[in-house]
Amino acid sequence: MATKTIQDVELHGKRAVIRVDFNVPLQDGEVTDNTRILGALPTIRRVIEQGGTAVLLSHLGRPKGEVNPKFSLESVGKALAEALGQPVVFIPESRGEAAEKAVAALSPGSVALLENVRFHPGEEKNDPELAKDFAKLGDLYVNDAFGTAHRAHASTAGIAEHLKPAVAGYLIQRELEFLGEKTESAEGPFVVILGGAKVSDKITVIDRLLEKADTILIGGAMAYTFALAQGKTVGDSLAEPDKMDTARAALKKAEERGVKFLLPVDNVIVDSIDFGNLSVGNVGSSDESGNIPDGWEGVDIGPKTVELYRSEIAEAKTILMNGPMGIFEIDACNKGTFAIAEAVAANKSALSIIGGGDSVKAVKQAGYGDEVSFISTGGGASLEFLEGKTLPGVAALDDN
Ligand code: ADP
Ligand code: MG
Repeated sequence: MATKTIQDVELHGKRAVIRVDFNVPLQDGEVTDNTRILGALPTIRRVIEQGGTAVLLSHLGRPKGEVNPKFSLESVGKALAEALGQPVVFIPESRGEAAEKAVAALSPGSVALLENVRFHPGEEKNDPELAKDFAKLGDLYVNDAFGTAHRAHASTAGIAEHLKPAVAGYLIQRELEFLGEKTESAEGPFVVILGGAKVSDKITVIDRLLEKADTILIGGAMAYTFALAQGKTVGDSLAEPDKMDTARAALKKAEERGVKFLLPVDNVIVDSIDFGNLSVGNVGSSDESGNIPDGWEGVDIGPKTVELYRSEIAEAKTILMNGPMGIFEIDACNKGTFAIAEAVAANKSALSIIGGGDSVKAVKQAGYGDEVSFISTGGGASLEFLEGKTLPGVAALDDN
């Protein structure tokens, strides 16, 4: 049951309504990072090269259903024109007669960007009337906004009921391929690196990946909940004592399934953190048994753990990383995360996939953004997809 894509449909002479993710950072009306704009180009180009017209819908920020010039997409249209190398018609509305007339006047091969869909309160409510109005803007629907595919909104899900064919663009196609097919039937050894803040955030993903992975490497604050479950002390580390049973169940499942489930053997600890100044007080290490004393907090995996994890990563044929190994936002706590990112990038014979907003940030910050096989464009969406949930924005599309 594969989702129909932009490659499966006739585009010549058609007006394609493309939902893109142009939720880009703006400063004084200028786009400061155009990664998401560049990401949408292959899909837009496909439409216009085939003799179609591209009508783009996107959200920007959280205007909460009200028109707010601060969240206008007009300057994003200019950045798109520059990236595309051709003019982009900006239409200051996304529904109604004026918008319909403006898109009807476009000639084949042209590109138009409509105003922020979240200026309408019906967008996030998936209002069917708004979805129907969006559907009037074109002859087919293309969803290429993976970052919002886990939300059932009028422009990501509702519209697809009224505008057929409804297909995936290249960005979503790639996400489904890497986060879906390639981890579903991963070539082994399949090594999964899981970190981040909380066991409770990641438990569903841990549980599901225990059925697919050969090896799971745990880092980040969630490691301390596992440490508690094993009777270790964690001092003031961010741990969830009420999730110890969950941690024990994961350890048991790993044992039953023969999954190698590794926890940190040492930790970097600090006696204070100043998040405002991104600095720490005294730095130390957990003891030989991995215990952390009172008054100290675990902030990163230690050097022995890095070596242990590195050797597992080097053997892998498929690697999935979701969640940093420590508080990588602070220089004194980023060594573990960066060393693991380096190890992932260094294994050129493995397919390496990075999912999760902070993990992606960390891998890029470490300088390995271009040295892994795939970087997911979805934060929350990639986590939900890895959990095995159906994403409304994908489910709404036609199946092949
Ligand atoms: P992702 O976005 O990749 O899925 P998460 O959102 O789950 O990752 O987790 C990222 C956050 O986890 C980061 O902000 C990081 O500072 C935090 N974190 C990692 N290790 C620790 C730790 N030892 N103590 C507290 N926070 C941590
Ligand atoms: Mg995150």
